[in-house]
Amino acid sequence: MTRDPRYDILFEPVQIGPVTAPNRFYQVPHCSGMGYAMPRTLAEMRAVKAEGGWGVVCTEYCSIHPSSDDGTYPYASLWDDDDVRAQALMAEAVHRHGALAGVELWHGGLSTPNLVTRDVSIAPASLPTWDEAPVQTRAMDQSDIRDLRRWHAAAAKRAQQAGFDIVYVYAGHGYLPMQFLSARTNQRSDEYGGSLENRVRLLRELIEETKEAVGERCAVAVRIAVDELLSEAGITAEGEGREIIEMLAELPDLWDVNISDYANDARSSRFVPEAAQEPYVAFVKQVTSKPVVGVGRFTSPDTMVSQIKRGVLDMIGAARPSIADPFLPKKIEEGRPDDIRECIGCNMCIASNGSGVPLRCTQNPTMGEEWRNAWHPERIEAKGSDSTVLVIGAGPAGLECARALGQRGYEVHLAEATTELGGRVAREASLAGLGEWIRVRDYRAYQIGKMPEVTVYRNSRLDPEQVIEFGFEQVIIATGAQWRRDGVGRCHAFPILDGEIPNVFTPDDVMNGAAIEGPVLIFDDDHYYMGGVLAETLRRKGLEVTLVTSSDSVSAWTHHSLEHAFIQRRLLELEVEIVTGHVLAGYNGATARLACAYTERPSDRPAKSLVTVTARLPEDGLYRALAEQPERLAEAGIKTVSRIGDCDAPGSIAAAIYAGHRNARALDAPLTPQMAPRRDRVTI
Ligand code: ADP
Ligand code: SF4
Repeated sequence: MTRDPRYDILFEPVQIGPVTAPNRFYQVPHCSGMGYAMPRTLAEMRAVKAEGGWGVVCTEYCSIHPSSDDGTYPYASLWDDDDVRAQALMAEAVHRHGALAGVELWHGGLSTPNLVTRDVSIAPASLPTWDEAPVQTRAMDQSDIRDLRRWHAAAAKRAQQAGFDIVYVYAGHGYLPMQFLSARTNQRSDEYGGSLENRVRLLRELIEETKEAVGERCAVAVRIAVDELLSEAGITAEGEGREIIEMLAELPDLWDVNISDYANDARSSRFVPEAAQEPYVAFVKQVTSKPVVGVGRFTSPDTMVSQIKRGVLDMIGAARPSIADPFLPKKIEEGRPDDIRECIGCNMCIASNGSGVPLRCTQNPTMGEEWRNAWHPERIEAKGSDSTVLVIGAGPAGLECARALGQRGYEVHLAEATTELGGRVAREASLAGLGEWIRVRDYRAYQIGKMPEVTVYRNSRLDPEQVIEFGFEQVIIATGAQWRRDGVGRCHAFPILDGEIPNVFTPDDVMNGAAIEGPVLIFDDDHYYMGGVLAETLRRKGLEVTLVTSSDSVSAWTHHSLEHAFIQRRLLELEVEIVTGHVLAGYNGATARLACAYTERPSDRPAKSLVTVTARLPEDGLYRALAEQPERLAEAGIKTVSRIGDCDAPGSIAAAIYAGHRNARALDAPLTPQMAPRRDRVTI
């Protein structure tokens, strides 16, 4: 297939100072959860992006000095020559595919309590560091500022030595140079504080000195937040954000612009659509002649073209879309944009980094596995036998398994009990804010639809006898899980609600359209998104809703996905009553009894309906019934029966997709030393 000429503009080269990007696709710096700890994993992950057509591929935040230590998160670093060798792995890997490699030099200032290095944290002022650590920074004096500039220039030279083409000065996401820019954090009385001219001084010096250090060979980029979304209390795009860019307009070779802080920049699809940053960054191109890159969870080539043609951006920046589909540019180039595996904006990737582990992606199960398992997002081993495969259940696990098996060339039969494909995704996408999640199903259903190897049977709830009768040689069961209605979960090991009590509902009931009357009490003992999403969904239907959680905050795990503050704000704005630190102790069909999670002090609340978001029960009856009859399976010619996804162990959609993919890769592939995942670690 050939490229649609409409998209030609995306493939024009772009001059960035002394280097040239081969096209307009720009993987902006993004966290990986790999950093200094896993250099091989990191290099291979970035290499796949370059292979997939991203013209520029950048590192994550890369510390310039031990006084900027984000431990326990595995950030990148360029502190010394050992780091140079580790970073060179990535730069070389990216260059192999003809892309430019960029490095985001970083000093965290107020963000880093330096728990590993134990250096004193430094910032424009003496203030508490961002996390809850009992750490306050030292207000930088003139010698600290001179040190910082020296460290930055030295790190830039190390970056050049490592082979990078683009070296960043990073004044975004609230980090140190931005702390100097913002009057909120910079109330100094010396020449680095006060007037905007003074607050900009450090950034100007860092740009000039980075150019002096490496500017002949490397482009110098500035990543900057043009708005802090704090109205007058912070930098705004109409105010100082614009003035700063005007003051420095022609100094760097490229402007990489976004909004601050990180949670605002990387908002999930529950809170913003594609291209949501345009109103903030659109002015930048009007005040500089240098190339401008910006982000907006861009997955549509038409939106990308529109951004360029309308003069909003010169280069299409992407973190999450490049994680969900490292081959997004190639697919446009090859005239098959419908094959793009679109990011769903769930922020599971960010949550991985926030948990200190390598990137995991809901849509792309190979993310983070490029080196460890030698998984490629587009290529897969051909089938290992002529076995026929029956996959039962077309939720995320079954769909991905059938898709990957079909890609391997197996004859696959996919049976689904209902008329609809997608399982939990099809149902959850109907909840407030989760519409984009349907892409998990749509990508796979579309791919499967093109595969003659895969036959789909809807309306086909299979029982053990039918499975034995069919006699397909390999049976993979992906029948999912159901939410419990007895209260068992994190807090209760034993049931507290018997099946006779009326008006008790589960998330499955809500998604299946059960008639629910208010006032509703939701008990969230799960702590991820479901409790908060149901509260929003039911409130939007006009019901009075109280959300009770056993945690100390609403949807507590979403702190990792950077959604927590937005969820809390939205629920408060919708006037959902929030009760934290309380456990459901009982319910009689009209009144819920709660107990304080700390004192056990009881209290009662009227509730016409109770929705319990607790644990889930794996739907593993079919698996167990078959596993109990090995002789009959053998007689029928069934060689293996396995279970995957939520029917094996209920978890995230990302985990179900991963399980489907892993099992498809593992079929007829005995675990050899070559197949065992490799460990990336410091070896002595
Ligand atoms: P997962 O996340 O593990 O993929 P889901 O709950 O999303 O799990 O999907 C499970 C799918 O399996 C659902 O679409 C459900 O209708 C289907 N299913 C459950 N039991 C059977 C069965 N016995 N035969 C065919 N399909 C089934
Ligand atoms: Fe997008 Fe979710 Fe994948 Fe992150 S984890 S890249 S948000 S699909």
